[in-house]
Amino acid sequence: MEQELERPAWLEIKMKALAKNYKFIRSKLNKKTKIAAVVKADAYGHGAVKIAKKLVCLGTEYLCVGSPEEGIELRNAGLEVPILVLAEVLPAQYQSILAGDLIQTAASRETLFALNKFAAKNNKKIKIHLKCDTGMGRIGFLPEELFEVYKLALSLDNLKLEGIFSHLARADETEKEFSNKQLARFDCALNKIKKSNFKLPLIHIANSAAVIDLKATYLDLVRPGIILYGLLPSAELKEESFLEPILEFKTKIVQLRELPPASTISYGSTYKTEASEKLAVLPIGYKDGYPRLLSNQGEVLIRGQRAPIRGKVCMGQTIVSVEEIENAAIGDEVVLIGKQGTAEITAAEIAKLASTISYEIVCNLDRNLKKIYLEDQ
Ligand SMILES: *Cc1c(COP(=O)(O)O)cnc(C)c1O
Repeated sequence: MEQELERPAWLEIKMKALAKNYKFIRSKLNKKTKIAAVVKADAYGHGAVKIAKKLVCLGTEYLCVGSPEEGIELRNAGLEVPILVLAEVLPAQYQSILAGDLIQTAASRETLFALNKFAAKNNKKIKIHLKCDTGMGRIGFLPEELFEVYKLALSLDNLKLEGIFSHLARADETEKEFSNKQLARFDCALNKIKKSNFKLPLIHIANSAAVIDLKATYLDLVRPGIILYGLLPSAELKEESFLEPILEFKTKIVQLRELPPASTISYGSTYKTEASEKLAVLPIGYKDGYPRLLSNQGEVLIRGQRAPIRGKVCMGQTIVSVEEIENAAIGDEVVLIGKQGTAEITAAEIAKLASTISYEIVCNLDRNLKKIYLEDQ
């Protein structure tokens, strides 16, 4: 344990920047719209408990998680706000829903009946939000069946219907035609309920991309995830200068070497020095969530300058060139994601090199990396 704490590889998470991003989101919304902050997947790798506590302090009304187990983790940490589980569950997880007083997404008739039965057996009520599939094609009731399902949910005595929501599949594109079509489908299904003089529960559809530039989606709640952490949902969306990435991934140089010309570096000898070259070894690799696809492609920051990766990224070690960096020394701080001086490497830059999205880069950071929460940044 002690050793793990001393290991020179860690995440710094800036709580003031989180507050800034949160306030930026709030400033865009209508007064009536509430925020259901998405902290699934350990708050996208940022540490769910700390992030959730801060967000609740800032005024977040709801939290969204990816499973009942994630909800229980937040309850055990003393969080008391309503927690919505965004995904479908199996019967083995029902006990956690009750134990955590969680709000469960219901996306099939089977789940509605089974949850109701389980709640009745335990003499309890389970809170649910119905999921409507307006075009995401993942989970949910089709718009055409929503009214019937709504009435069914109301008729089940041990369920408490508190919301109906949908999810946008393409809000991160500049072209909003598909999103508007999803919105229209959702609206149409909800209108059928309204017209029949039923009262609508909480209605929501917006993710981060919609919060950024689709005002029509600001309903009773919005569900922002990635922008809370200061990252954009896609490279296509225009730069939101108000967002600040809150996570930095850092390590230190553990070894310096100078290899002669024609030396080959790392597995597969995919890099060969032309002249003699000064190299630094870093104690991080793909087991830390640093993508192997960065081999011979990625860069890190040392002394405010970019240092290119040489050869394959290994499981726990990576080699970079410090040929151009004067006075590079053992123990120097190395930034893998984040800023150093005026230089910056973003999760988006790494995502592009690794043919993925920044979501996957931050989510995949090893949970065992020590996290340092900075309250003054
Ligand atoms: C993950 C998720 C979100 C948040 O998405 P972002 O793009 O990170 O804002 C919202 N709603 C649902 C249903 C999700 O699964």
